[in-house]
Amino acid sequence: LFVDAPLGQGQSVDLNRDQAHYLFGVMRLKPGACVALFNGHEGEWTAEVAEAGKRAGRLVCLGQAAPQLDPPDLWLMFAPIKKARTDFIVEKAAEMGAARIVPVLTEYTNSERVRVDRLQAHAVEAAEQCGGTFVPEVAEPLTFDRLLEDWPEDRHIMFCDEGLAGASRGLAVHDGKWAILIGPEGGFSGRERERLRAMPNAHPVSLGPRILRADTAAVAALTLWQTTMGD
Ligand code: SAM
Repeated sequence: LFVDAPLGQGQSVDLNRDQAHYLFGVMRLKPGACVALFNGHEGEWTAEVAEAGKRAGRLVCLGQAAPQLDPPDLWLMFAPIKKARTDFIVEKAAEMGAARIVPVLTEYTNSERVRVDRLQAHAVEAAEQCGGTFVPEVAEPLTFDRLLEDWPEDRHIMFCDEGLAGASRGLAVHDGKWAILIGPEGGFSGRERERLRAMPNAHPVSLGPRILRADTAAVAALTLWQTTMGD
């Protein structure tokens, strides 16, 4: 269970209504039962149910079960698409070890309304589901130009370009920081492509000769990166 609270030996953790409902209403836990807790930066802790109510509850940390394990410094940057597909991208990025998720508004992006709080909740659920101790941060959406304005020299971009289909699928291996960039349903504009191709640390990559939907491309790109450079 993810909690937004400090964890430590003997630390008491208050539960909100949703958490109490899940633990005591759905999972039917009683006082004395044990729960695995994480807060995204202090590893996994075993906690005991001290108070169980319908709308609230309290846990007490007994001891650390696993140390904090942070993913590699990889961002997933994508142009938002339809709601359910955007939710899917965030969920899969969290499961597949992205450290940060950045919605990017490109020239051909259709869905500009992004609910960051909703997407962040999906990232938390995905981290809970896969038993991780880390939750990626979902950033506020940025325009393509703003994103590249102060792009740090030491972060490589794996720029997924369907225009390269059939060309080299190679991904150059570089240690350090990375970001994957996936375009919208309409693809990148000519100007955006040129801008990316002119960047020394942007690496155009093909994901094969077929044009993939953006959500498929995100999963394929994360898999390719994790296989080539991940842990
Ligand atoms: N512009 C395309 C069109 O309408 O024909 C479609 C863009 S595709 C649906 C969305 C994004 O997925 C692309 O901008 C790209 O980042 C990524 N993508 C899809 N297929 C790809 C491939 N074969 N290689 C690399 N990237 C791909």
